[in-house]
Amino acid sequence: MTAAIYLVKGREKSLRRRHPWIFSRGIQKVEGKPGLGETVDIYAANGEWIARGAYSPNSQIRARVWTFKKKEQIDVDFFVSRLQDAKTLREILAQRDGLTGYRLIAAESDGLPGITIDKYDNYLVCQLLSAGADAQRDNLVAALNIVFPECHIYERSDVSVRKKEGLKERTGVLHGDTPPKSVVIEENGVKISVDIIGGHKTGFYLDQRDSREAAVKYVDGKRVLNCFCYTGGFGLYALKGNAAEVINVDVSQPALDTARHNAELNGFDTSKAEFLNADVFKLLREYRERGERFDVVIMDPPKFAESKAQLNGACRGYKDINMLAMQILKPGGTLLTYSCSGLMDGNLFQKIIADAALDAHRQVQFIERFEQAADHPIDSAYPEGFYLKGFACYVK
Ligand code: SAH
Repeated sequence: MTAAIYLVKGREKSLRRRHPWIFSRGIQKVEGKPGLGETVDIYAANGEWIARGAYSPNSQIRARVWTFKKKEQIDVDFFVSRLQDAKTLREILAQRDGLTGYRLIAAESDGLPGITIDKYDNYLVCQLLSAGADAQRDNLVAALNIVFPECHIYERSDVSVRKKEGLKERTGVLHGDTPPKSVVIEENGVKISVDIIGGHKTGFYLDQRDSREAAVKYVDGKRVLNCFCYTGGFGLYALKGNAAEVINVDVSQPALDTARHNAELNGFDTSKAEFLNADVFKLLREYRERGERFDVVIMDPPKFAESKAQLNGACRGYKDINMLAMQILKPGGTLLTYSCSGLMDGNLFQKIIADAALDAHRQVQFIERFEQAADHPIDSAYPEGFYLKGFACYVK
């Protein structure tokens, strides 16, 4: 018999709105002895069946909903159906934006809590973040084989959040061949080499695609500084947009080497590009003192806030780099700035930019807003899926 969770009275409300999380304090009793990630039936306090989900005994989020349909069992067919839904949307986007790489499954936002899958050409890269996701590995792989018979499958679950779920980090081939060092994808006419095994996350930051394309219209003939460039990203689009000069900065030498390779791969004029191994915080101060000035500064840092406790420190970090960026912009320059910290909402980020403007003694006007790319959709029942924000700022 399937184990069961009974909720505290009233705690079923968020589930009726199709939100997929059940917190430990919302649970009145657990029947049976569900193990790590085991499927459980979820009942309201009055005994009404509400949903079926995965049990996470070690996490504050004690269960995550797989389905709100009583007849739906959590088996290969279930995963096939979810994957097919997700594939349908992605095929529309792939056609629209010329993509051979995209996020296929954005976890909760695609009805598969704890599961992220990115598709790079014929390689599917899975990240399983929750106990439920981990327990369903075999069903998921079987379903992927049915929906994408041509694809190889690799796991990159080397992420520390798995600890909260009582899981160890894990990587390796799940089906087919080991990914080569370089899998080339294309987006918006730009080619990008992705290192699935050695790169950050699953290999590439697909979520910034729309912002990268939007950057093209700000760079024609301009001197561009691309901070936190990773494997080229915005810098490649700046070259596509006919920038006069692009300085790409990162602390990762392998990322910088790939960035240069990517510029060559696209046949861009690499004499216009520099690939600098430096700490952005230090470099911007040096530029400010030396009087180096730019027309466009791109500021796409890693996530500064992993938890609520880190949010204040993160705010200081964002304010500092954005202030520095404004100070090295020529009058009338453009700052393209982003935050991928989900804990920081758009209003707070806008306020930080406002504070940075005061400290930089510059007047700033917001002229465009950005969000995560469309293959990272936000489900209406799960607003937490919105995490990436950005602004184009006109800096006087
Ligand atoms: N803009 C990129 C993604 C950036 S990810 C794109 O479009 O693909 C963040 C990058 O910041 C990583 O490559 C990481 O190596 C780099 N990084 C982290 N701290 C840094 C620092 N202090 N100075 C420079 N780069 C840093």
